[in-house]
Amino acid sequence: MIGSVSVGVRARRWVALCLYLLFGLLSWITVETASAADCPGHPDALGTSRTLVVDPRQHPRIGTMQYPETLPLEDHEVVLTFDDGPLPRNSNQVLEILAAQCVKATFFTIGRMARENPAGVRKLRDAGHSIGTHSQNHPLTFHKMPIEQAKQEIDDGIASTLAALGDGAALAPFFRIPGLLRAEGVEEYLESQGIQIWSADFPADDWRHVSSSRVYDLAIKRLEDKGKGILLLHDIQARTVAALPRILQELKTRGYRIVHVVPATVELAATPTEPQQWQLHPPSETVAISRWPKIPTFSFAETGLLPAPVLSDSYWNDDWPIADRARRRAGGVPLPAQAPWPQPTPLPPQRTASDLPVPAQSVFELQDKFRFAFARAARTAEPAVTAEQRQEPDSAKRHVADAGASHRKAAGKSHAGRVRRTGVAHAGGRAPRHATHGGSRALKRVVQVKKRSV
Ligand SMILES: [Zn+2]
Repeated sequence: MIGSVSVGVRARRWVALCLYLLFGLLSWITVETASAADCPGHPDALGTSRTLVVDPRQHPRIGTMQYPETLPLEDHEVVLTFDDGPLPRNSNQVLEILAAQCVKATFFTIGRMARENPAGVRKLRDAGHSIGTHSQNHPLTFHKMPIEQAKQEIDDGIASTLAALGDGAALAPFFRIPGLLRAEGVEEYLESQGIQIWSADFPADDWRHVSSSRVYDLAIKRLEDKGKGILLLHDIQARTVAALPRILQELKTRGYRIVHVVPATVELAATPTEPQQWQLHPPSETVAISRWPKIPTFSFAETGLLPAPVLSDSYWNDDWPIADRARRRAGGVPLPAQAPWPQPTPLPPQRTASDLPVPAQSVFELQDKFRFAFARAARTAEPAVTAEQRQEPDSAKRHVADAGASHRKAAGKSHAGRVRRTGVAHAGGRAPRHATHGGSRALKRVVQVKKRSV
């Protein structure tokens, strides 16, 4: 019974696993097929992986080059943007390159260019790209010009592009400030108009006097550094036209996916997102600050004010007598005139060494019986020590050294201790060799004999 249940569970797991793998394979095929299907004649095209619908009023400022938020992209997702067109020759080539890869992008047109080349603006629309605006004359003074002038630049650029399109629905409420020279007043005006301000996440410096190879290198390197984001390019630049095929090819090789961004409308709802997705690198759940509790909002029941303290209530008013200040510190209770801490008691003078009696000379004299015993012990111990030293010279030396050290410890390290050992050797009388060659040696032997007898 148990065995059949176990087999049944295992079988269901296998079926679930197979279905999961099949679903994943079908999803992969669907994505790949979608890219290829959207790009007939170009089976290896990079394609556009998805369309992101954004609400400008919910997220009015995007692009981490200047703002905290950016588009809610997944890792390895890229949004291509092109500024300053349309310029017939270069912009048309950019459109052809993008079409060959079935890539959808966002173009920020200049009003004056749109008036000169309205067909170019319509080509952008017909190719399915998003169209934002980039001012009327591209002045690089948005950060310091009067707000009324900035408003005029913004409004005229929109009007010129709309006039070229002939269709208001084809224009996205997206605006990029020329030179990214932002100003608070300009941003507030754009927000009030429901227009989303697009900075970028990284440029490729294609407006500078650099080679197309350099544009390619910068685009790929900066994208790799961030892993995803909005790439800023210029469709009017020949070097960009030259670099773009390689950039798109490299994006595909490295597994990047193109995202097309369109504005939300009454008919088209914004793509559901979470607030943290609008950050380029949202803090991980493992980062403590992202889980830190919010500061609560307090509401105070009683908002009456306490009386402000006056200077006379302070304790450090130097005009007060010290006793008065002390009384106030004690809470009004008068303090005793003298502190209750016990007074120090005078101690009797310490006795010094000069008070001890001088030892008599007889204290240091050895009696005859001790003198005899020392000499006899020295004679008896000498052969045994010699034999021991012959057998184990090193250990014997250490033994003697240890004995000497212990003796010195006992006698103290003072010069007086050495003098006393010498005195013992001399006291032997009948062993002048010891006295001559070191009285301490005789004394060490005595110590060894004593140790052996224990
Ligand atoms: Zn520009």
